[in-house]
Amino acid sequence: MKNVDELEQQVTRLRRQLEATEALQQTLLDITHHLEMPELLEAIVRRASSLMNATGGIIFLRSPSNSESLEAVASYNLDRDYRGTRLSLGEGVGGRIVESGQPLIIRDYSQWSGKSLQSQFRPLRAVLAVPLTSRGNTHGALEIIDLTGERVFTEDDLNLLMPFAHQAAIAVENALLYEEERRQRKTANTLREAAEIIGRSLDLDQNLALLLDQLKKLVPYDSSTIQLLDQGRLHIIAARGFPADVDREQLTWENLENEIWRTIIFEKVPLNILDVRTDPRWKVRPGLEYIRSWLGVPIVTRDWVWGVLTLDKGEPNFYGQQEADLASSLARYAAAAIENAQLYASAHHLGLTHQKRAAQLASLQKTNLRLSSTLDLEIVLRTLAEGALELTPADDTHIYFYDQDTDELAFGTALWRDGSREPAVIAPRAGGLTSGVARQGRPVIIDDATDHPLFSGRQASQWGVRAIAGLPLKRQDRVIGVFTAAYLSPHQFSPEEISVLNLLADQAAVAIENAQLYQKVHAYSEELEAEVAARTQQLRDEKERADAILTHAADGVMLTDAQGTIEYVNPSWERLTGYTAEHALGQNPRILKSGETPPEAYTAMWQNITAGKVWRGQLRNRRPDGTVYDADVTIAPVMNEDGQVVNYVGVQRDITALKDLARLKDDFVSNVSHELRTPIANLKLYENLMHRGKPEKRDSYLQVIAHETARLEQLVTDLLDLSRLDRGAITLAPELLDLNGMAADVVNRLLKLAEERRITLELTQAPDLPPAWVDLHQMTQVLTNLVVNALNYTAPGGLVTVETASETRRGRVGVSLTVQDTGIGIAPADQEHIFERFFRAQTARETGVPGTGLGLAIANEIIELHDGQIEVQSTVGRGSTFKVWVPLF
Ligand code: ADP
Repeated sequence: MKNVDELEQQVTRLRRQLEATEALQQTLLDITHHLEMPELLEAIVRRASSLMNATGGIIFLRSPSNSESLEAVASYNLDRDYRGTRLSLGEGVGGRIVESGQPLIIRDYSQWSGKSLQSQFRPLRAVLAVPLTSRGNTHGALEIIDLTGERVFTEDDLNLLMPFAHQAAIAVENALLYEEERRQRKTANTLREAAEIIGRSLDLDQNLALLLDQLKKLVPYDSSTIQLLDQGRLHIIAARGFPADVDREQLTWENLENEIWRTIIFEKVPLNILDVRTDPRWKVRPGLEYIRSWLGVPIVTRDWVWGVLTLDKGEPNFYGQQEADLASSLARYAAAAIENAQLYASAHHLGLTHQKRAAQLASLQKTNLRLSSTLDLEIVLRTLAEGALELTPADDTHIYFYDQDTDELAFGTALWRDGSREPAVIAPRAGGLTSGVARQGRPVIIDDATDHPLFSGRQASQWGVRAIAGLPLKRQDRVIGVFTAAYLSPHQFSPEEISVLNLLADQAAVAIENAQLYQKVHAYSEELEAEVAARTQQLRDEKERADAILTHAADGVMLTDAQGTIEYVNPSWERLTGYTAEHALGQNPRILKSGETPPEAYTAMWQNITAGKVWRGQLRNRRPDGTVYDADVTIAPVMNEDGQVVNYVGVQRDITALKDLARLKDDFVSNVSHELRTPIANLKLYENLMHRGKPEKRDSYLQVIAHETARLEQLVTDLLDLSRLDRGAITLAPELLDLNGMAADVVNRLLKLAEERRITLELTQAPDLPPAWVDLHQMTQVLTNLVVNALNYTAPGGLVTVETASETRRGRVGVSLTVQDTGIGIAPADQEHIFERFFRAQTARETGVPGTGLGLAIANEIIELHDGQIEVQSTVGRGSTFKVWVPLF
């Protein structure tokens, strides 16, 4: 145990690790329970603060709209609620952490050179801050804060917090992903509703106004317009949110001379004005002074610009890329609505019947709806193919994916009028129509394929294509696929048919990209989930390892808080003290006190441990069942950085057996030396008398010398016997023996002694006593011991009887030897001890009869070897009866 200190340090470390692990696991549980960001963040900062024993904490995350700035998104137990506080990258602790990706330990924030100039951070004192980094992305920073000025953070704290932060970062990333997924779902829903709206009626003004209402669900605005291009001017066709007193005329007829409009319309890109007050292009109009942020996106189908969608907001810096993207996707529906209306007008113009047109629109609408309502790529492709064959008389349609970076085409789907889904070709030929459309990003329409160079070759002519249209599937400027519609009989593509195919291609491109994105996000979130699971397993393993150490430690380990309340006990502790953990937790260790420990031990213990020192000593403890045990106890205080005791670890070991052994040894030494001293003193005395005493008395001197020598011999023999019995060196040599005969021999041998003591010694032999398998020498020793004891502890004039008998015990046939005397007797309390080594009863010692206290111990061991029993009955002043029983075999 020379490494007690080390062991305790290890236990302390293990325990803190356990705590950290538990906090982590709890956090993991939170993650699986709520993916809701605010709750998750609050759980993280709360757990981390209590783990670090700090006042509270803050979490900063990168703002979703602007990666150069951070926002406090969780604040726990500080002087104020810091949520909403913004930092720029590099500013203050959070900004520094996110910029560098490195942790920081700050002793005193007020003295720190990098502190933020914002006044609200002034009360902060010690800060421990770590990055929330996952897969190389730093999402933000977790700051653990002390406001009291008493806590100082160390490298150890940092080491404990880092794995926690890592876990938290994964959780945050998961939650971000979840939020993003939810946002995308909301977007998809809103867009689907938008599709429904434009399919429901052909009233363009009303449809566009309803689209503005949908837009508001995706991108907040104070006011918004849809303006159509008409003869070089913009005309407001739908508006929402403008003050009632604003003159509508003021808003309309925007002149394209203005640079803002020119950019949007001619460059076909969104324009975002962060603050109109600082933008020289902005023209303030009466009634519209409230506008600070402005966003305009073009309404386009393919290359044609129909108009502009605008959004106004009363606060500056409101719109970003995300808002522009969302507004653009809604603008596409506005474009579809406008195109539908135009198609209807032109159909009218072409003289198509109203019914046919209505049926076609319904079909288009249905396709449109299905495309925008699913995120399943397979369904998107089928819908597109079915829509194409429903809306045009084409014989087959093919869709291929295109990867612009590698210039590779991959088969998507095919559909023939007879329902077959066999593709004409899996990989389109290089230099063919499909690859041409993919590379150029422009539609190719061939009305007569027979003569067309692309289809007149030997192989191509086998396909029998007579007319074919290939359209690029485009998102922004990227080609993501190609979609073809082919005829096997002569066919002339009408403008109307081409515009339907274009419309389908546009919608399909959005749907395909959405589905692909969704698949990607899905795969990513699965990957993340697997990572979290792996990490959880790792943590569980670590905890199990720590648990295993404590569980299997042979010593009892107990942990209390600074007030001494028991917080943890291991199984060995439960076994040793007899208290279950359930009973012990929450109690004070004084439940263990037996009242048998000298009070000085406790005084010394408290003096040491309150002074921060380790105490080691021995205590006598009591179990709930009343038994008392000796414990070797080590108590170590666990201190925080400021030297305050926060916990005590107590390790205890049962040393009752050791103590008993020590007591026995002490008894032995004092007994043996006493027993040796008397005969030796006598020997010396009589040896002296032999020289100087009267010669005529030499005979009697010699007698005494012989007597004392015999006594010494007996003592040494007894000790040797016992030690041999202990070592198991004595093995029985049993023989079939008549115990009557043996008893007679012993009695005869001792008659002379009895006579000297003037005690009557009698033997009663049972008739027909069966022979027993016993060791003659050993049994003789047992009986001799008993009879000598009886003679020793009986006054002159007394009676000692020896009796043999057959006796059956618990079904076993056996014989017994009973030695009864009329001597001093043994007190009941002593009776249970007389078979112990060196034990001598009070009464025996008072008589002055010499003895070693070994005779009965030896007899007991011998009888045990014979599988027999030895017992005593005795009354003080009346006499004792010893009875030995052995089985026949
Ligand atoms: P000892 O050498 O002291 O006799 P034993 O082991 O033979 O050692 O006996 C142990 C103790 O048991 C004795 O010291 C005595 O106190 C008690 N004892 C044994 N036999 C008798 C007896 N016949 N009458 C009274 N006390 C006895």
